[in-house]
Parts: sequence; C-alpha cells; structure tokens
Amino acid sequence: MAQTVKINSIDHVTHDVLRINAEKPAGLDFIVGQAVDVAINKPGWEDQWRSFTFTSLPEDNHIEFTIKTYPSHQGVTNELLSLKAGDELIIGDVYGDIQYKGEGLFIAGGAGITPFLAILKDLEKKHKIGNNKLLFANRTKADIIDEQKFNQLLGEKFINVLSHEEVPGYEHGFISADLIKKHHLGDGCYFYLCGPGPMMDAMEGHLSAIGVSEEYIIKEGF
Ligand SMILES: Cc1cc2nc3c(=O)[nH]c(=O)nc-3n(C[C@H](O)[C@H](O)[C@H](O)COP(=O)(O)OP(=O)(O)OC[C@H]3O[C@@H](n4cnc5c(N)ncnc54)[C@H](O)[C@@H]3O)c2cc1C
Repeated sequence: MAQTVKINSIDHVTHDVLRINAEKPAGLDFIVGQAVDVAINKPGWEDQWRSFTFTSLPEDNHIEFTIKTYPSHQGVTNELLSLKAGDELIIGDVYGDIQYKGEGLFIAGGAGITPFLAILKDLEKKHKIGNNKLLFANRTKADIIDEQKFNQLLGEKFINVLSHEEVPGYEHGFISADLIKKHHLGDGCYFYLCGPGPMMDAMEGHLSAIGVSEEYIIKEGF
C-alpha cells in the first residue's frame, strides 16, 4: 500500500542529478538493486508515478534515491527540482529485475548506475567487492555520478567511458564489444546491464557477438 514520507534532505550530486534522502516507510522491504514507484505528494502530482531505484540499503533507517532530472520533459523529475526538506513523496510498489548473483562486469549508462551503486555499497559493507568491475558510460566527466565513491570502491576496476569529451585517462566513445572483451572477468562471470534503451540494445548486441549466453546477463532498461 502506498505510504507518504517526508523528505529529510535533497541535494545535487552532479549538475542535473539529485540525491533525495527521505523517511523510510513502515514495513518497507526490498532487495538491493530494486526500484519503487514514487509520486510527489503535491496537488496534480499524486498520481504521476515514476520508477526510482533505492540507493540506500534495506537495513538503513532512511531511504535514498539518486535521480537524474529532465527539465525539458516538464515531468516528475523536473518537479523534484523544486522540492525541499519537509516536502513529501508517496512510495508505492517495489519491483525490479536487477539483483546480485555473483562477480561480474557491471555496465551502466548515466542514471543506470543506481542499482549498481546500491549493490556495490552492499558488497563494500560485506567486504565482498572482490573482482567486480564497472564500465560507466557518460557524455562528459561532469555527468559522472559518484565518481569519487566508485574510485574508492573499485580503484582500477572502475573504467569511465565518455562519449562527448576527450579527457586523459578516460576512454572515449561508446562502450564497444572490444572494451567489454578486454574487461570480461572470464567464464562463469555475470554481466549486469542498466541504462537507456538504445544503450541496452547496443550492449546486448555486443554480448551476443562475443558469445555470452543469456543466463549470464542481468539487466534492466531505464
Ligand atoms: C526500474 C526502473 C528504475 C529506475 N531508477 C531510476 C533511478 O534510480 N534514477 C533515475 O534517475 N532514473 C531512474 N529510472 C528512470 C526514471 O524512471 C525516468 O527518468 C523518469 O521516470 C523520468 O520521469 P519524468 O516525469 O521526468 O519524465 P518522463 O516521464 O520521461 O517524461 C514526461 C513527459 O515528457 C515527454 N518526454 C519524454 N521524453 C522526452 C524528451 N526526450 N524530450 C522532451 N519531452 C519528452 C513525454 O511526453 C512524457 O510524458 C528508472 C527506471 C526504471 C524503469
């Protein structure tokens, strides 16, 4: 059942990404990597449900979302830009296909990083980061969400790929089949994919071309 919660804080993590910390609804349960339907408790917005992934962990005493805003859509994420602490969200059903199954290569595009942020935070807490690697695609360096955090978590196993900017030490262009092959952990390891539709299509094409079978692919389109 939907529950209304107060926002504790709302901050920018990049020029267009918000981090919202809110009260945890009573009885809320979710698996790390899952998302939930969220609406804004404001006249005209209460039935405008959008999906956002928890970037907090199930045991935390608050909930957190990391949300890329699209002012040009004039939709929910634009409206979130005008909210402040004390305003309210409505939290609905929990769902989502991504969950951690074992070591692998995480491939994210933009806000598609959110389930992996939650999974990697959870693994850090359990001291199980292991050999997991992250390929993170963004347009520019300024678009990278939580770059410092991923550097600290993964070090050299964190590879940034920038499509619209050339920066020394960062890959340039789109994530290619060759780049995936280069960072593939080996047989029996998983591929975790999350990002916008066109990117997902391209990544699935690359994985199929390099012979990865479906059972090793865990994915969600944003
Ligand atoms: C399972 C799941 C989990 C997700 N988790 C997250 C997350 O943790 N963080 C995150 O940032 N995102 C996440 N997303 C994506 C997020 O749900 C969308 O970005 C969000 O719904 C956008 O809402 P919006 O109202 O701002 O815009 P939209 O609902 O995309 O658009 C509102 C209206 O704008 C118009 N519109 C659509 N596209 C355009 C365009 N390109 N230009 C102009 N107008 C347009 C349409 O008429 C549309 O009705 C997730 C998605 C899924 C499926």
